[in-house]
Amino acid sequence: MYNKTWLSVIKVVIFDMDGTLYQDDTYLERYIRYLLEGTEHEGDTEAAMRLGRAILSDCHAIRFGYFYHTRDDVSLVQEGERFVRSLTWDGTAGEGPAQDYESLSAHEPYLIPIGDPWGIAAALSHRYKLPEQRLRSAFERVRGEMLLPPYGFACHDDLFRAIEELTAVEKKSLMTNTHLESGVAFVGYMGIGHLFGDVAYGANKPAGLQSYFGSLLAQGYRPEEILSIGDNPWNDLHPVKKLGGRTCFISPYPSSDPEVWDLRLHRLEELAQLMRVIQQSITGRKIADGEDRVEADKQEIQG
Ligand SMILES: [Mg+2]
Repeated sequence: MYNKTWLSVIKVVIFDMDGTLYQDDTYLERYIRYLLEGTEHEGDTEAAMRLGRAILSDCHAIRFGYFYHTRDDVSLVQEGERFVRSLTWDGTAGEGPAQDYESLSAHEPYLIPIGDPWGIAAALSHRYKLPEQRLRSAFERVRGEMLLPPYGFACHDDLFRAIEELTAVEKKSLMTNTHLESGVAFVGYMGIGHLFGDVAYGANKPAGLQSYFGSLLAQGYRPEEILSIGDNPWNDLHPVKKLGGRTCFISPYPSSDPEVWDLRLHRLEELAQLMRVIQQSITGRKIADGEDRVEADKQEIQG
């Protein structure tokens, strides 16, 4: 199932947090409700929640991997590096000529990548022209609920154990765009702070990941020794792939992103298994190379 050759040279693993170390999308409908509550658009709540569900389950013309244009209120479809089509919220073709978008850079600040469920809510908040403060307060509210009954999400302890037991790599890093306060609360809830060396909250991915990758290269790591794992291709994987690093996409949802990743996983059980395969691949290679006599002796004793 896994190509152990490239896994055996991994020295740094960079983990995203939300959607990567836990999986939960039950918050999305509440998030949308809190966004619209008490606004002139409150009557649209049910329809907006339906739309959110439809995108999640890939039953809508707007798909994960598209970008939302906050100024023109359309979603943009990419082919290669170019935007080739625009779509309105009801899934019909956008009005302006598609070539207007062809030369747009996906890095424009007014484009929101619909890369994970959080991106759907962010796009909807712009659709309804809600103030930034409302997005923030709905975000805080729903994030607080995610850590308490009845909405507290399930922790995948076997995954955390497998990350802990991945001792053969030199560095395990956590990078999340979630701001410090909520990031720290989530890490505390999962009890995983001790698993990582470098931890970055408010990491400003994708740009922040590109800089972090550069800092690893400056420390002497080679690109192919660095593996990034995440559920949001635009934030977590593209910057690393561009620089020659290894990538693992983990998400239960289909994605329209045409890029091919080194690994494509859906569930946390698979990620736990990957951690163990990396550990075995590295230790196995070191024994074969004679790099690790202690390990080899141990293996011989165990027969
Ligand atoms: Mg994520």
